[in-house]
Amino acid sequence: MSILRIILLILAGWILWRFTKIWYQNTLQRQQKKEKEAALSSPSKKQQESAMVQCHYCGLYLPEEEASKEGKIHYCCEAHKNVDQ
Ligand SMILES: [Zn+2]
Repeated sequence: MSILRIILLILAGWILWRFTKIWYQNTLQRQQKKEKEAALSSPSKKQQESAMVQCHYCGLYLPEEEASKEGKIHYCCEAHKNVDQ
């Protein structure tokens, strides 16, 4: 009876250790994933925010690379650029 108890205790301890190890690895992987995602998403967000310009004619906000430029003034499309001049 006592030997059975010891075996059960060892088995329970082994299972507990395995689960703890798996859980620890999972949390580590999740943390690394989160850090990677944060590192990937934050610079692109900053770029987008800094590149936003406003159309001089209608006031629409759009990325700078999509805007039509007339000197320092930006427009959302060629039509607004032509109308405003
Ligand atoms: Zn416009």
